[in-house]
Amino acid sequence: MFNMAIKAVIFDLDGTITRPFFDFDAIREEMGFSPDAGPILELMEKMTAEQRKAAEKILERHEERAVAESALNPGAKETLEELGKRGIRVGILTRNKVSNASAVAAKHGFKFDAAVGRDEGPVKPDGFGVGYLCKQFGIEPAEAMVVGDYLFDLLCARAAGAVSVLLKNHRKAEEFAQYADFVIENIPEIIEIIESKQANSPQRTQRPQRKNNGA
Ligand SMILES: [Mg+2]
Repeated sequence: MFNMAIKAVIFDLDGTITRPFFDFDAIREEMGFSPDAGPILELMEKMTAEQRKAAEKILERHEERAVAESALNPGAKETLEELGKRGIRVGILTRNKVSNASAVAAKHGFKFDAAVGRDEGPVKPDGFGVGYLCKQFGIEPAEAMVVGDYLFDLLCARAAGAVSVLLKNHRKAEEFAQYADFVIENIPEIIEIIESKQANSPQRTQRPQRKNNGA
């Protein structure tokens, strides 16, 4: 496969743009599940309409609190600004709602070009959201980079054919790393990855290679 230049970066919200906030075990417990019962949205799909209504209320209460108490990960805002300056589109792909992503952006004063949440279609790990954003940006999935802190972020990138980047933020990060094309410790590192991919893209490699003299 060609090393495509990156034209868009698609970010997960919780744990990636913002510091990890949700206590998913506590949410599961409130809904009447054990901590190892599985991902919450998938559990809700199996509920009766009435149960789901009650569960949605619990989830929404946690999500609203998460917006109010959100804090950005180091370098997140600066990196989004840098991407904007370089003409690289910024997408948000979350299992949360787009309205909550917009509220987080407004609270912290950062911008994104488009967002996909759980109301738009199948959630991560499905590749739908990546395809949806790429279509909006008018690019191929291989020109998009998905950055997230959880396994589902990497799996949805793979499913769609995008580049996957794991931000090491989760206690199981070592397990997830096998599904990542790149692993980073801090958000600003994605700029280096973008630069290296640009330097190696087909348009560039036709030109004489610049010597790296290590100076
Ligand atoms: Mg996350």
